[in-house]
Amino acid sequence: MHPFSKITKIILFLLFLNTILLGLILFPHHPPRNLEVIFFDVGVGDSILIKTPYQQKILIDGGIDKTVLDKLGRHLPFWDREINLVILTHPHTDHLNGLIEVLKRYKVGQILETKILCPHSNYEEWERIIKEKNIPIQIAIMNQVTEMGRDLKLLTLWPAEEALDELNQKEKITHISINNTSMVNKLIYKDISFLFTGDLEWEGEKALLNKLSKEELKANVLKVAHHGGATSSTEDFLKAVQPEWAIISTGKENKKLALSLRILKRLERLGIKVLRTDQNGDIKIVTDGESINVFPEKQD
Ligand SMILES: [Zn+2]
Repeated sequence: MHPFSKITKIILFLLFLNTILLGLILFPHHPPRNLEVIFFDVGVGDSILIKTPYQQKILIDGGIDKTVLDKLGRHLPFWDREINLVILTHPHTDHLNGLIEVLKRYKVGQILETKILCPHSNYEEWERIIKEKNIPIQIAIMNQVTEMGRDLKLLTLWPAEEALDELNQKEKITHISINNTSMVNKLIYKDISFLFTGDLEWEGEKALLNKLSKEELKANVLKVAHHGGATSSTEDFLKAVQPEWAIISTGKENKKLALSLRILKRLERLGIKVLRTDQNGDIKIVTDGESINVFPEKQD
């Protein structure tokens, strides 16, 4: 073969490549301006991915194990290894462990967490990796507003500083008292809002009802607190939030924190539609800021 034809082939290939690259620059793919919230089925635990209309990715909690990595792989393009904001609602293992794996494998832009003393080995590992990778941390403060772009903001509604001080001064920190410092966030996109409650118990719900107006608590979608357990989701709280949809993140194997039948009945009586990760798998909610479309992986 004449050597010149090989060079010609290479030049033609490079021209072809150039045309494609130029095309991508001139005509970038513009996905529709929707907000997507995906409640991952991570068994016992919480893990929620938010994809904003402005291409940001927020991950709230990571479940108890590595399952979150498969979920991220499924719901993000394979080349995408970046999460803009990771939120740890409270440092219990069914919220924290998966996030440690995410920190190891993804480039995380920022961390939002509560400031509570939680000396256990997994939390120490979390702190060590954050330090090692030099990831900026922001401490959640009640009434903090994070503007995410036009018509899109994240409001941190809880914990109040006094709740944290009270906890950190206690001699014995219990599981329940940590649950009650869970970070509560409200995500608002135009007319639609989501309320994420971590594992807040009835005491925390009561404090929120005292501090905030019903209008501030109101949301179209509620991530039901504490995996649908009996010690959260009081009637007063649910009536204030008035959600159209309630999402329960729980696992079949969850005996100790079993989803309470009483809470299910309460939600039903209040006319709130319920989806559960143990029955529906991953639950994706898409909104243009005016209406909501719900896409459960499995119909029950
Ligand atoms: Zn939990």
